[in-house]
Amino acid sequence: MKAVVTGAAGFIGSALCHSLLAQDAHVVGIDKFTPYYSPEQKWRNVAGLQRDPRFRLVVEDVVDADLPALFGDADVVFHLAGQPGVRTSWAKGFDEYAYDNVCATQRVLEAARERGGLRVVYASSSSVYGNAVSYPCRETDLPAPFSPYGVTKLAGEHLAVLYAKNYGVPTVSLRFFTVYGPGQRPEMAMAQMIEAALTGSTFNLFAAAGAIRDFTYVDDVVRAIILAGTVTDLPPGLVANVCGGEPATMVEVLECLRGILREDFPVTTSASVAGDVLRTGGDSGVAQHYLGWRPRTRLADGLLQQVLRRRRELDVTAPRVDGWGSPVAAEPAP
Ligand code: NAD
Repeated sequence: MKAVVTGAAGFIGSALCHSLLAQDAHVVGIDKFTPYYSPEQKWRNVAGLQRDPRFRLVVEDVVDADLPALFGDADVVFHLAGQPGVRTSWAKGFDEYAYDNVCATQRVLEAARERGGLRVVYASSSSVYGNAVSYPCRETDLPAPFSPYGVTKLAGEHLAVLYAKNYGVPTVSLRFFTVYGPGQRPEMAMAQMIEAALTGSTFNLFAAAGAIRDFTYVDDVVRAIILAGTVTDLPPGLVANVCGGEPATMVEVLECLRGILREDFPVTTSASVAGDVLRTGGDSGVAQHYLGWRPRTRLADGLLQQVLRRRRELDVTAPRVDGWGSPVAAEPAP
């Protein structure tokens, strides 16, 4: 397979590139290294990839890049480049969200239309549902985003569907639900909890303690993305939820983490901020039906992998916990 991955230096994009290379694909990765979080983390994400001759990194903005040339004779484009995060999508921050989530998606779709026969897999989001009327959310529900971020992700998804319907571009939009696992973006709640637990700092929960998220492990998400890029005879413009199927409250996640660490750590809480929904939860029946996909990773197992990776990165030499003899061997690549 020849694949193009936009957002290749990001959390999910880099995990996807590792998995594609492991399946013998040739990959062109495009990323402009936005300063949303530490560029060091993004360079770390691509360091291993760059040692593989089948991977080429292009540091460019998707909006300006010569996409037809970069797409070449690729079979599929995995369009993961985007500006994530709910809280910074208000006020002046909105311009970046519109640019990176809507304009960039339109450029990818135009270039795919020009090329012809190129499948586009678009990284949509559970944020398109907002505070839903009923749960679990299904793709047939009326979307009602609760944040400007959600509005831009839904706009990108609508573009993907209309390029499929008007021009026959084979697009698939996957609505990811709170993705976690090794390499998670550092501003996400689980990453912050783990950071606090491993460094002895205080974790501040910016949400109602009872907020529920349908956490989805990154390897499961990557598997869904690759299936969306390879399964044949999909309906044009397909939209599918990709959700972990084991929704949990933030308090339950904290308990799970305390169980892994076998010790307590301090937590403070602040009121939830504008745009944060109370609950996410999806039905993955469409992904099961069309892609043959189901989540495989239990929350406790995925959380453990994320802890082990972060612990290794922090190089915590003196184990704070019993039974952590050989974490590296237990951890799958990447
Ligand atoms: P991330 O920020 O780690 O990765 C996104 C990457 O895209 C970044 O490296 C950034 O530099 C790059 N980028 C942004 N705009 C670009 C542009 N115009 N040109 C080139 N590169 C650009 O985020 P992530 O968590 O890996 O998310 C990947 C995608 O999945 C995003 O589109 C996000 O909206 C979507 N998504 C993520 C989650 C989640 O829980 N992580 C949930 C739902 C949807």
